[in-house]
Amino acid sequence: MTTPLAIETQALTKQYPGVRAIDGLDLAVPTGAICALIGRNGAGKTTAMRTLFGMIRPTSGRATVLGLPVEDRHAAVAIRRRAAFVDPAALYPWMTVRELLRLARTCNADWDRAREAAGLAVLDLPLARRVSALSRGMRVKLALLIALARNAELFLFDEPTEGLDPVVRRQVLHALVAANATRGATLLVSSHQLAELEEIANWLCLMDRGRLVLAGDMDDIRATHHRVDAAWPAQCPATLAAASGVVSARINGAFATLIVAGDAHMALSGLGATIQDIRPATLAEIVLAHVGREHDEAEWVSTGAADALA
Ligand code: ATP
Repeated sequence: MTTPLAIETQALTKQYPGVRAIDGLDLAVPTGAICALIGRNGAGKTTAMRTLFGMIRPTSGRATVLGLPVEDRHAAVAIRRRAAFVDPAALYPWMTVRELLRLARTCNADWDRAREAAGLAVLDLPLARRVSALSRGMRVKLALLIALARNAELFLFDEPTEGLDPVVRRQVLHALVAANATRGATLLVSSHQLAELEEIANWLCLMDRGRLVLAGDMDDIRATHHRVDAAWPAQCPATLAAASGVVSARINGAFATLIVAGDAHMALSGLGATIQDIRPATLAEIVLAHVGREHDEAEWVSTGAADALA
């Protein structure tokens, strides 16, 4: 039996005047996954998340969240009730933490007092302070606490740990992972903190220029990507970058460091290479290999051979 999808989009597109923020996006996130949504600045991650939560109307394409179509008005209300867009900027600034929690309690039929108390004990928030006087880290924790106590089935979290100190980062990540582990909540987390995502995520969606360029189970993706150091007697062959499975190549004379998807020996067979070292690629190496650009000197340069993964 296949796992039902918490998020599914088909050819989802958002066109702004002069900018296609998302461009035929096909997302599929299984229920219960901790999904890392990764991409360069401007890749379309925030637009995608906001579209899924009904905050932005797509130009075309389809999306379902928790099995409900986002374009349907009634379904959109149900999505907002069952999912949480954790947004520290969306808290009423004039209220104290205590007042805001009281309001959230009355507005949410599924509010879980025990979870609220447990969250408060861990997240250490000043109840008497106004939201406007909270630091960014405190606001993130408060927004997360509300989502946790609401018993959300799906958390959409854009840059959860940006600007947070290491202790608060840990608290936020632990609370998220606990929501996943204890209740099976699905998490879609967008961040540039790849090491953090590598620690918690078990599913990957990598976006570039509004499109999905790599997606799937994190362990499978890591198991299929290798960093390979290879050498040639004289010069690297000109055909190296186009070889099937070679996702990126950094070439230096007779030496090349490659990120290869699939069987590295097979990818380099017939090219006369001596493989000097081969090891699993890190998430950062995989990401840079797929979305690096030619002008990113000193970074991985994608060969455009990502299709070889399909
Ligand atoms: P970052 O990692 O920098 O937060 P992102 O992947 O979240 O980036 P988005 O914020 O979704 O990217 O933006 C995708 C593209 O859409 C960018 O080129 C951005 O300038 C553009 N864009 C986003 N919102 C609007 C808008 N309201 N009007 C016009 N263009 C927009």
